[in-house]
Formats: sequence, structure tokens, C-alpha cells
Amino acid sequence: MSVAEVVVDVPTMQTNRPFEYAIPNSLEDVVVPGMRVEVFFGRGKRKVQGFVMKINETSSFSGKLKPINRVIDLRPVLTPEMLKLSSWLADETYSFEISCLQTMLPSVMRAKYKQFIEPVEEFVDDQEVISLLDGNPSLEITPQMSDEKLQLINHLRRQNKIKIEYVVENQARQLKRQAITTELNTIQLHEQKNNLRSNAKAQFKLINFLIDNLDKLPIEMGEVEGISRATIKTAEKNGLLKIVEVTKRRKPIEITPEQTTKLNLTEEQKSAVDQINDSIDNSKSDTFLIEGVTGSGKTEVYLQSIERALKQGHSALMLVPEISLTPQMVNRVTGRFGDKVAVLHSGLSNGERYDEWTRIENGEAQVVVGARSAVFAPLKDIGLIIIDEEHEASYKQDDNPRYHARNVALWRAKQHKCPVVLGSATPSLESRARAQKGVYHLIYMKKRVNEHPLPHVQIIDMRDAENSAVKGDISPLLQDNLYRAIKRGEQAIVLLNRRGYSSFMMCRECGFTLKCPNCDVSLTYHKDLAKMKCHYCGHDEPVPSICPNCKSKKIGFYGTGTQNIEHQLNEILPQARVLRMDVDTTHKKGSHAKIIKAFGDHKADILLGTQMIAKGLDFPNVTLVGVINADTTLSIADYRASERTFQLLTQVSGRAGRADKEGHVIIQTFNPDHYAIKDASKQDYENFYKQEMYLRHQSNYTPYYFTTLISVAHKDEGQALKQGYWLKRQLQEALSDHAILLGPTPTMISRKQNKYYYQVIVKYKHEPKLHQKLLDILNDTQADTKKGFTIAIDNEPQHID
Ligand code: ADP
Ligand code: ZN
Ligand code: ZN
Repeated sequence: MSVAEVVVDVPTMQTNRPFEYAIPNSLEDVVVPGMRVEVFFGRGKRKVQGFVMKINETSSFSGKLKPINRVIDLRPVLTPEMLKLSSWLADETYSFEISCLQTMLPSVMRAKYKQFIEPVEEFVDDQEVISLLDGNPSLEITPQMSDEKLQLINHLRRQNKIKIEYVVENQARQLKRQAITTELNTIQLHEQKNNLRSNAKAQFKLINFLIDNLDKLPIEMGEVEGISRATIKTAEKNGLLKIVEVTKRRKPIEITPEQTTKLNLTEEQKSAVDQINDSIDNSKSDTFLIEGVTGSGKTEVYLQSIERALKQGHSALMLVPEISLTPQMVNRVTGRFGDKVAVLHSGLSNGERYDEWTRIENGEAQVVVGARSAVFAPLKDIGLIIIDEEHEASYKQDDNPRYHARNVALWRAKQHKCPVVLGSATPSLESRARAQKGVYHLIYMKKRVNEHPLPHVQIIDMRDAENSAVKGDISPLLQDNLYRAIKRGEQAIVLLNRRGYSSFMMCRECGFTLKCPNCDVSLTYHKDLAKMKCHYCGHDEPVPSICPNCKSKKIGFYGTGTQNIEHQLNEILPQARVLRMDVDTTHKKGSHAKIIKAFGDHKADILLGTQMIAKGLDFPNVTLVGVINADTTLSIADYRASERTFQLLTQVSGRAGRADKEGHVIIQTFNPDHYAIKDASKQDYENFYKQEMYLRHQSNYTPYYFTTLISVAHKDEGQALKQGYWLKRQLQEALSDHAILLGPTPTMISRKQNKYYYQVIVKYKHEPKLHQKLLDILNDTQADTKKGFTIAIDNEPQHID
């Protein structure tokens, strides 16, 4: 009788290891590593889910093993590589192995779903298949199914006679929407058009729309632009069209493959591609850092390296910060590699996600593009991993397990013996320092492909009399340049650098701000709800008209919002068409892509937005970039504030002058002499790197020191603080004199969801005992005496707040 090692879904320190279970004879062939099973756990008859990690012939346990109750999956949901990865990841992030296993699963496997067996086409008439399905087209797998049946299923699956399909229960809300369609053909439509009265302009437009889009019908009402409902109704009455209901599967992100042919590489590009290809050809797990100015053509380097990996029979994995923010990159990859590409993103419905996952798993898709979690894509034989915009904080998960996709990528690259390419115009200091030490290979791309100089950047000192005198936030120089760019038929991007989403309320009489009763944060205004809402706990309340504190009517919105700037732009430049992109205009799925496309089609002159417009966009007609308030990110209490500011300004400046027209950037600031702003204005990463490294060295921060942030929380503030000191004492025991311990201090938002947060920061170079100590601390926090007390360990935090 063989034995399965199972990691059970009981996330505690005590259960954070595999447990042995007997595999009943009847399931002998069925159970394999990577599958989920149901087992009884503990003394009671508690059924839990678990992952089979390993199968052994004998047990080390002397007593009687409990048997596996039943199998949940009929085929492994995680590959052997992922099982191995989970142990490493758990250790690296101080998480439970079960959380790591769950994190790696495609979300459809976490959702409620049903499994069905269907015959593989060629075997529809197979005798065994027919008897299994009992003449039905498919068979649902139920927990009650006998083991004999499961064995038969397994047997047939191994012969590839049947396949297993997952169907998600309550399939991601199938939305019913109204759409228009017509039964008339082009000729008939033209006839109808000719019969219209000459003043029936709207009907004329509608018929033209139908003619142009005949092959796309039915089209949802919402997508018919510039034609009113009344016009559609009239047309329906006249028999021109029909209104039908369509069930629209949510296809949130429009991927429109951009066909580009292989370009002739510039010298810098060629050198980069050659080095990467050499590693691919020789199966070396080198790490390359491409430090390439904006517009240096990094995308083409990625594409041609992917091509090489594919040619060598390997697959390729490409990570981007966020799919919805980088549609152009996705379009270019899908344009080049077509059906070979699987795109993984959060906007997919569970069903779609499952489809993509299957395509990757069975090797149909050899190129995967996705955000952070795509690093777990079940690709086999990876030949290349690319991480674009490698400095982005979004590659680090904010919740347990707090993993960094870059580290996971490096781990996988070692397994697959393939190179990793990190690309950025503004590499993270960690990566750049590693390249300095020779751990990574540094590849410079210093020239823009179009040979154009980098955009001309002007820093505007907002303290100057002229600027402080203007009403509003837009300096005369920026006003003037916007006016002239638009007059020339060119486009502009205006960035409002915002710290959060803040549109909060403040009383101008007494300074009162409206705060959440549960959390220590300001409530922010949500236009769609017309309410003030807390971002942490969801509490909402009506917008006050008088100050709850002093009853003054002078309570109003504070903080320069994008809406406010939009309003100012409309006043200054009434002729300019402004598109706004911020949390407000993009909370609906797919709206990012829509706005980006509209701007690309020159349906607007100015794209106004927050941080989300700074990245990766490539609009040839944009010649002017304006930054309203460069300082916001500088003022945050985080040692990465300068780095983030430099990155943001460099990235957004890079949006100007990408094609044949020259670019111009105007940065408004109250700190014109700050090195982050000055270096960004020259796109001088190397100078910034030197200065910032010096300061990090002075203050003992990354990359000179490792950092671990541990936070504790409790409902009672005194308890939280007490535990903070307990934590510090614990750490002191394990650490040498060289380590630096900060805190406990309240986190910047010290109360969230009615819990108080205190944090301790450890900075260290070499502390061999720290790792085990942190595990012990985690273990201790599970004791009864620590009830109601939560702890989180963040290794190399992206934010300290
Ligand atoms: P970045 O390095 O900022 O990511 P991109 O990859 O977006 O730059 O390239 C900038 C522009 O240059 C794109 O429009 C791209 O099509 C073009 N480009 C890149 N490489 C070449 C080349 N070898 N020849 C001609 N155009 C190129
Ligand atoms: Zn007041
Ligand atoms: Zn709250």
C-alpha cells in the first residue's frame, strides 16, 4: 500500500508540513502528486482539502494511517515544479505552504466548479467510453462516484480517450444586454437610405453605422456611439433594425493584436539580443538587466528574444506590471506570435482563465503574457523569462504570501536553465546594484531608436511670483505650451501626481476632516455613489453639507483632483478635448483600453490622468507632457520616495516625442533643486543612482541592508503596543549588534478595520539566526495567550508606511 504526503488546508504553524495518508487500493492508480484530495484531519471527523505532494512506497509512521477519503481533482492541478516551488516560497515569505499552493492555483480551481468527463472526439464511439458515459454526451464527476469508476476514468484519460472539463458554478455573471441587429443586407440598407427624407440626419447616420458594421452585428447598445436611443427606437419601428438581448460574456480587455514585422535592429538592440540569445542557446540561467532609456526599443528586443526561444523549442514567459495599463505591449506580443500567446489577467472570467490555463498546460500556448501571478504559469521547458518595467512595486504581492515575482522568476529560471531579462528605463536600486556587482549582466540602451534627442525638459519653480499668482494649478508656461501643441494638431499628456485617491472633505473654518469611525483614514468621495467612503473597511456615509464640528458651511472637497484640473483645462483651453483617466473614469472594466484607444485615435487633444498614464504608452503624436505637481510622491514618509518620484517623472517624460516630432516636458514643482527631479529632467538614471546609493548608504537602507518589516495588530491599542515590544525583545535575542531595530512605531495609518497596527523594522546584513527566529515568532503567535493578535512579516517591503 502506498502512502501520500499531503499538505492540508489548515493554515497554522503546527500543521505547516506534509501529513501521511494511506492511499486505498481502489485509488492506487488515481492519486498522483499535484492533485487535491479530501482527508479527515485531527481528532474529530473534520474533512479538509489537501494537496498531494509526494507518493512513497512505505510510511515512516508506526501507527495506522488514515486513508485518503476521496480525490477532488482527477488530474494534477499543480506541476511537480510548482510543488517544489511552494516549499521554497513558503520559506522565503514566511507563509504557510498551503497558502502558497493556493496562490499558485489558477483562480478557477479555487472557485466552486463542477467537473465533467467528455469523450475526446476520435473516441466518441469507443465501447469503453460509451459504457462509462452511459450513452450521455458527458458525465458529471460527483463525490459519490465509486472508486472503480474513478479508476476507469483514470485509465481512459491516460489513453487520451476522454478529457476532463471544468465548469465554474454561477459562471461569472452572464450579463444580459440589449443589442441592435438587422435582417437587411447591404443593398437593402442602401435602398432604405435612399428612401430617407433629406432631414432625417440621425436615421442616415444610423444606417451608415449598420452598413459599416454589418459583419459585427449584433452590437450592444452601449457601443453605438453618437446615436441616441430614440433614433434606434424609430429605426426599430420602421423595420430597419431589431433590438435583441445578448448574453455578453465579460470580455473586459480588448486585445487588438498589432501586427508588426520583425524590425531591423539598431546596434544597441542587436547587441542586447545577441547576448540574450547566447544564453538561450546555451541554456544558461543568466540574469540580464536592460537599462534602456524610454523609446530605446526594448519591446523589439523582447520580441526577437522570444522568437529565438520558440525557435529552440522552448516556451517564454513575459511579465508586465498590469495588463490593463499596458495594452500596447500585449497587442504587440499577440501581434507577433498570434495563437501561440496566452494572456493571463485579472479581468478574465473564471471560465476564460481556465481556458488559457489549459492552453498553457497542454502546450498549445508557448508564450505567456501576464501580470504578477502569471509567474506561476504552468509552462514547460521555459527558454526565456522577461520582466518589463522591473522596478514596479506591483510585482510584489501586498498580502500573504508576500512574494516578489522577480524572485520567483529567478528561481524558475534556475530550474529551467534559461535566462531572465529585466528591463526598465529606471531600474530598481536593488537590481542596478546587483548588476554593479556582476550578479546580473548590465545591458545599456542609451539611444532612442528614432535617433531623436530625449525630450527637452523644463522645470518650473512654482514658488516664483508669476506662478504663485495664477489662479489654479496650471502655470502660464504650461498653459501656453498646451495651447500651441494643440494648435499644431499635436497631443499632450498631463499628469496629476497623486498620492492616493484622495478627494477628502475638510472644513476651511476649523480644519476638521471627515474620517472613518473604524479606521484612521479620511473618507474619500465616490462620485458614483455620491457618498463618502472608507477604502479600508467600506464604511460609507452621506456627503455633509455643514461641518459636523463647527457647523460652518465652509466644508468642502480638498486636494486637487483630476476633475478639478479637467475643469481648469476646460476654462483655459475651451477648444481642447480632454480625456480623463483616473480611478473614477476607469473603475468599469475595459475602460482603460477604451480611453487609451480613443486617445490613440486622436479623439482627444489632452490625456489627463494620475499615475496610471505614466507607463509604457506609445503615442506618436504626443509632443508635450506636463506634470502638475511633481512633489507629491516626494513627501511620502518612505525611504523609496525619491526613487518613486524619479521613476514616475522619467517614465512620464518618456511619453513625449516618441515618433518623428520632438518632445517637450514641463515639470511643475516646489522643490526644483531636488536631485530626483533634476536627474529625472535629464533622464539621467546613472547620476540619480549614484546620489541615491550614497543616501541609502548613509541611512543604512536597501540595497546596503536587507530590510524586514514586521507588524502586529490588535483591537486594543495598548495590547498592540505591548505586543510590539514583545516582538522587539524576541528579535533582540536573535540578532547581533550589527543589526538595526526600529520601532515599535504605529504604522502611518495606525488603525484599520478597528485594529491598531504597530511595526518593527529590522535592517541587517548578515543575521543567520533571524530566519528561524521569525518562524518561532510566527509559531508563538498561534498560542492561546496571543488570541486576537495578528502578525505580518514582509521581507523586503516595497512600502514602509
Ligand atoms: P521602450 O524602450 O520605451 O519600451 P519601444 O519598444 O516602445 O521603446 O520602442 C519605441 C518605438 O520605436 C516603437 O514605436 C517601436 O516600434 C520603434 N522601434 C523599435 N525598434 C525599432 C527598430 N529597430 N527600427 C524601427 N523602429 C523601431
Ligand atoms: Zn468646521
Ligand atoms: Zn474604515
